[in-house]
Amino acid sequence: MYAGAGRAGSGPVEGTRPVLYDAVLLDRDGTLIEDVPYNGDPEKVRPVPGARAALDRLRAAGLRLAVVTNQSGLARGYFSEEQMRAVHARIEELLGRFDAWLVCPHDDADGCDCRKPAPGLVHAAARQLGTSASRCVLVGDIGRDVAAAMAAGAAGVLVPTPVTRPEEIAAAGWLAGDLPAAVDEILRRQQAVHPASGPAGQRVGTALVVRSDSAGDVLVTGPAIRAVAAGAQRVVLLCGPRGRAAADLLPGVDEIIEHPLPWIDPAPESVDADAMRTLTTRLAAVGADEAVVFTSFHQSALPLALLLRMAGIRRIAAISDDYPGSLLDVRHRVPAGVPEPERALSLAAAAGHRLPVDDEPVLRLRQDALPYRPADLGAPGYVVLHPGSAASSRACPPELAARIAGSLTAAGHRVLVTGGPDERAVTARVAAAGGTDLGGRTDLPGLAAIVADAGAVVVGNTGPAHLAAAAGVPVVSLFAPTVPFGQWGPYRVPTVRLGDAGAPCRDTRAASCPVPGHPCLSGVDPAEVVEALRVLVGSGGGGR
Ligand SMILES: [Zn+2]
Repeated sequence: MYAGAGRAGSGPVEGTRPVLYDAVLLDRDGTLIEDVPYNGDPEKVRPVPGARAALDRLRAAGLRLAVVTNQSGLARGYFSEEQMRAVHARIEELLGRFDAWLVCPHDDADGCDCRKPAPGLVHAAARQLGTSASRCVLVGDIGRDVAAAMAAGAAGVLVPTPVTRPEEIAAAGWLAGDLPAAVDEILRRQQAVHPASGPAGQRVGTALVVRSDSAGDVLVTGPAIRAVAAGAQRVVLLCGPRGRAAADLLPGVDEIIEHPLPWIDPAPESVDADAMRTLTTRLAAVGADEAVVFTSFHQSALPLALLLRMAGIRRIAAISDDYPGSLLDVRHRVPAGVPEPERALSLAAAAGHRLPVDDEPVLRLRQDALPYRPADLGAPGYVVLHPGSAASSRACPPELAARIAGSLTAAGHRVLVTGGPDERAVTARVAAAGGTDLGGRTDLPGLAAIVADAGAVVVGNTGPAHLAAAAGVPVVSLFAPTVPFGQWGPYRVPTVRLGDAGAPCRDTRAASCPVPGHPCLSGVDPAEVVEALRVLVGSGGGGR
């Protein structure tokens, strides 16, 4: 690839480092300027409306800018490198300087690792800007742009144009109406995780943090809990029974209270007055100076806020669109579509907490809580295939999982099939088609240890996807669109999303598939999984 002369500035000033992003990467044709196919003529450069002002807002916010562009016209001889440089000079004349230019000159047939949707340009841009892909957000107008960003572990914003295909729009986790709107939302998200009250204030004594619901819910709240822990001497976490094993893995948590919350659990017990009194007494005994109640968008923090008030807690923060009266001291609101870890981080920020500058907004696990991986699994680099999910609507159909196992094995990958004790029939059937059956052999820490040594994980929208994110292990996400991908997709880890994002189950939050045949996932071709692994871990395969 061609890399422009390095004009990357010095690194971020320690102590002022933004929490989320260092750089914004921009596609060229159809994103920054109107798309004129194979243009070698500077006179034909036309910026999209509002581009200059939007880019200047990013520059003013201290974000570095790079252009990442496929220019197969070079390979095909439609224009010369000199003509391309003239076009780029004209773009800078109209839109201001960029800190780096990254160009893929190849054609699809070249099989390079830089032509989007491959992640090569994104990695190269991050390197040249002195940061990592996970601290970059890419703005583009077609699915290839977003796919390249995700495969590198960067965020991707899709700004559709009339040529953007409907399935690309459906699959995008982050959509904006135009370039200025994309820029505004990038800056808003960046700002939302910074406490309004300036740099970390006085440390509180004891903070009570709350995250009920499942293991995945607890895992994605980890960065926010670390932010609270950075500003507190002691952190007590209230979680539910289904999230307990994940809570035990979170850094920053000093003590855990496990108690079901009937207004949160999907299959709740009836409300027992004595149990609520017992819980209130336990919460009072924590002696918390403040409480931060984390929830998903469809859950209410208010019933617990009332119990916390009755437990004598003076300062309570939560997200609530419902009017909280005097139940909350910090009532925070978040627009739809924000990734769950950032949504929670923004609540921590509203309560006055931010991640320390030496931490990153990524999922993490306590390494001392993980067991040694069984030696009989062989060397690291295998592929973990996890077909199940507590919600069947988000599970991979067993028949498809079996075909995926067969295709991966045939492609030279070592496959480990994982699942809980109640999923043994499925894991046995899948592993029979290719791979080692680990069904029922792992608890959550054991699974986390196995995932941590994987080359990649193939999984639906369920807990192990977040274990992979926490270990920095790439994910092939068989994502049923029952909830938004932008909120629940694997966070800040290289990912390829597969499945029909526009299927009728979209946004239904259904626990069991409402559509006969589970069409959102049953149409996945195992060859797509093999190709996704090639993109994520290289053609050698993680498992050879
Ligand atoms: Zn290339």
